Amino acid sequence: MRPNAMNQVHVISHPLVQHKLMLMRDKTTPTMAFRRLLNEIGMLICYEVTRDLPLAEIEIETPLAKTKAPALSGKDLVFAPILRAGVGFLDGMLALVPSAAVAHIGLYRDPKTLEAINYFFKAPADVASRLVIVLDPMLATANSAVSAVHRLKERGCSDLRFVCLLAAPEGIAHFHGVHPDVPIYTAAVDQRLDEHGYIVPGLGDAGDRMFGTA
Ligand code: URA
Repeated sequence: MRPNAMNQVHVISHPLVQHKLMLMRDKTTPTMAFRRLLNEIGMLICYEVTRDLPLAEIEIETPLAKTKAPALSGKDLVFAPILRAGVGFLDGMLALVPSAAVAHIGLYRDPKTLEAINYFFKAPADVASRLVIVLDPMLATANSAVSAVHRLKERGCSDLRFVCLLAAPEGIAHFHGVHPDVPIYTAAVDQRLDEHGYIVPGLGDAGDRMFGTA
């Protein structure tokens, strides 16, 4: 990946991701399975979103000999889930990068205006020096994603990536219209938004399906 390229959208076409996504779209998939699948896809997308992290050789000693081996050498990571659905990705991501810090960003959609309303923000003090991976399963209108990245940039963050499960073309256009420097990683780009701001065909309300609150 070219880290400074603009307007990047990475669609994760891996067959395991696509199969699990099909199961999540199916309206008969129960809450417990939905949550587990989102977690598993989180792990698989984490693999892709960290694919270009820098490595440097360090000296180590195996039981047999001294040798050099590659070790992660770049910035520390922060996973930044947008509450509440973004936490569905978290365990899977932390399973692969357990040393990452977590920044929680509380936003909800005003059901009438679809605008993002901020109600919580808690990030590590050194967040500006880290690579920040923002998590939200649904990039629909992108109001929440735009607002979350804006808050992080206000705190000095300049190295950000956005991970979702599904993106609408309208959401991608809005997000990259405001934050062209933040690459998007998604499992699929769907057809459109409906009049309520839901992604079509989508999977419904990700938070409700994950937490059984429908
Ligand atoms: N949020 C969701 O949970 N689902 C959508 O389709 C759009 C936004």
